[in-house]
Amino acid sequence: MNKDIVIIGGGHAAAQLCAGLAEAGLGPRTHLVCEETHLPYHRPPLSKAFLKSPDEMPQWHRDESWYGEAGITLHLGDPALAIDREARTVTLRSGKTLGWERLVLATGTRARRLPALAGLRNVALLRAADDAMQLRLLLAAAAQVTVLGGGFIGLEVAGTARAQGKAVTVLESAPRLLGRAVSVTLSEHVLAVHRASGIDVRTGVRTGHWNIDEGSLRSFEIDGESHPVDLLMVGIGAVPETALAEAAGLECADGIVVDTHMQTSDPAVLAVGDCTRFPDRHSNTALRLESVQNANDQARTAVATITGAPRPHTAVPWFWSEQGALRFQMAGLLPPPGGEGDLTVRREGANPASFSLLHYAQGRLRCVESVNAPTDHIMSRKLLEAGLSPDPVVAADPAVPLRKHLP
Ligand code: NAP
Repeated sequence: MNKDIVIIGGGHAAAQLCAGLAEAGLGPRTHLVCEETHLPYHRPPLSKAFLKSPDEMPQWHRDESWYGEAGITLHLGDPALAIDREARTVTLRSGKTLGWERLVLATGTRARRLPALAGLRNVALLRAADDAMQLRLLLAAAAQVTVLGGGFIGLEVAGTARAQGKAVTVLESAPRLLGRAVSVTLSEHVLAVHRASGIDVRTGVRTGHWNIDEGSLRSFEIDGESHPVDLLMVGIGAVPETALAEAAGLECADGIVVDTHMQTSDPAVLAVGDCTRFPDRHSNTALRLESVQNANDQARTAVATITGAPRPHTAVPWFWSEQGALRFQMAGLLPPPGGEGDLTVRREGANPASFSLLHYAQGRLRCVESVNAPTDHIMSRKLLEAGLSPDPVVAADPAVPLRKHLP
């Protein structure tokens, strides 16, 4: 019987799976199937420092020799086209067929696109290293940058472009920035910092009437007014890559549905990372999370399942973002707004630009947002992991370090 493990995908989750399987001595049974021609690389720099340095290559998780020494077979630039669950095979674009005992889908997400703007010379999006290389060329030549979408990608690119001296406009359709991810207070702070840096940020806007000429976008309308375009960066969200899973008959619901061991509706097939919808024990809901932390922690859970030492996935989610000079981190997830007895307290940091917001629901600490306060962030993760909820009044006192609340 074929004992191989096939991983489909080349992002953070796939890289962490390779590391975990190699550590367990399973490298020689492992195949990594990846649509991109690059080795797995770190994505966070792509919207930041990478855009500023014309010659920088992506930062590989591990170089090619590491995969060779671990015995892992790489299939780069050769995407999987079909899964046969009965025969336990995957067919690649090259025509190769790989057999497996365990298949892991780490297919991630793709950037949401606006079909009207497809293929235009001065319109960019950002998901993969090749997108970032294209974007940095366009950025170098642009004096004015318009960013569609006030989410993580849009604001990080806007911060980078502004630091390069570009005139930057950010257009967000929702009433506030980062509306799905952060609290109203943090959202307002982010808005104020970007505006103070000279970025023209507009929320609640409607865009359309794209004026396209000779393969370039010349202008478009913002709330009925014409806006000229030098470079447009589109960062309007991500869509989970579930097509292969759906075609293979696996249960999907805006993500590949997995259990706490990362097993899909077919236990021989696992899924990890941005593409999954998983049961979150902290919120008691089925979540899909787009973050490096989630990819890494789910990959560790999947390795435990594959190696026969299963343990349920219980990781506390956390995120970070760097947007120009602004740096913030989140531990845990915001409780749904408007709950009875919900409370948020503010803990001031070492300087006026540093603070943390501690969010409680029904007396339990659920989420901590830290702005330029990395120690608070680290301690908050420990508190949440331990299920501890310090008294809000004491937790808000900057004279009492958060670590004092840990055993
Ligand atoms: P995102 O964070 O979901 O933000 C997209 C934003 O664009 C949302 O606020 C969305 O509003 C808005 N939007 C949607 N359609 C629009 C339109 N037509 N015009 C203007 N605004 C529009 O997604 P993203 O910034 O594109 O990021 C993509 C992926 O990269 C995600 O997986 C993200 O987590 C990841 N990423 C993460 C980080 C980080 O964690 N630091 C950094 C970079 C990238 P609605 O919510 O109302 O749709």
